[in-house]
Amino acid sequence: MLEVERPRLRCRRPVHVGSVVVGGVRPLLIAGPCSVEPGYVEQALALAAVGADALRAGVFKPRTHPDSFQGMGLEALPLLQEVRRLTGLPLISEVLSADDAEALDDRVDGYQVGARNMQNYRLLEALGDIGRPVVLKRGFSATIDEWIGASEYIRRRGNDDVVLCERGIRTFETRTRNTLDISAVVVARGLTDLPVIVDPSHAAGRREWVPALAMAALAAGADGLLVEAHPSPAQAWSDGQQAISLDELAGLVTATRQQR
Ligand code: PEP
Ligand code: MN
Repeated sequence: MLEVERPRLRCRRPVHVGSVVVGGVRPLLIAGPCSVEPGYVEQALALAAVGADALRAGVFKPRTHPDSFQGMGLEALPLLQEVRRLTGLPLISEVLSADDAEALDDRVDGYQVGARNMQNYRLLEALGDIGRPVVLKRGFSATIDEWIGASEYIRRRGNDDVVLCERGIRTFETRTRNTLDISAVVVARGLTDLPVIVDPSHAAGRREWVPALAMAALAAGADGLLVEAHPSPAQAWSDGQQAISLDELAGLVTATRQQR
């Protein structure tokens, strides 16, 4: 009988983000609130205590409507600094422009390019020039080839520290926020030497579906998870409906540590 197990398609090029490695011996768990909000320091301490490997630290938020909370912006920098000092965990922060990236500079360990900006080629080139690691989300209507093509804009500028992140694509299905394309994990890993992680939160759109999608991602061989988590999800300033609780996060910590 053929044994079926988690694919051990160890990627060929691990990416170091601060003190952690994506694409190393076990999948990485990046967790945090959708956006940095005033209680971020306490939240980050709680997430660190549960066992997150790195923290979401978005201060610039690309919201679908301009009336929605746009993130704390540079006002949040002292919070990021404090979280780094207290937890020592790497911070990953979304940028919408080259100016955002320069403003954050070395106060974060990695940049995130969101789904809405995957094809913002000037931004990708600027991040290639800066040279800090980039988590590149797949656009919600982008093919796998377009996503990998986007990664090349960063790499051609000499920055190979790119992590691909599948976060769900737009399909005819409306029950989920997006449709998590699990095949993208396997296919992208076959086509590139980059680590591939999965964001089950923006795929599911609802907290109760996140753990199952996260487990599916690990089963498919994902190099990590990017998860929205909050000590009091109902109080989150954005995307609270899809943020998992500390207890649920603890389950994912155990799951990622059991993987090889
Ligand atoms: C996020 O991760 O904060 C985010 C905005 O996600 P996406 O770009 O995948 O919509
Ligand atoms: Mn969000």
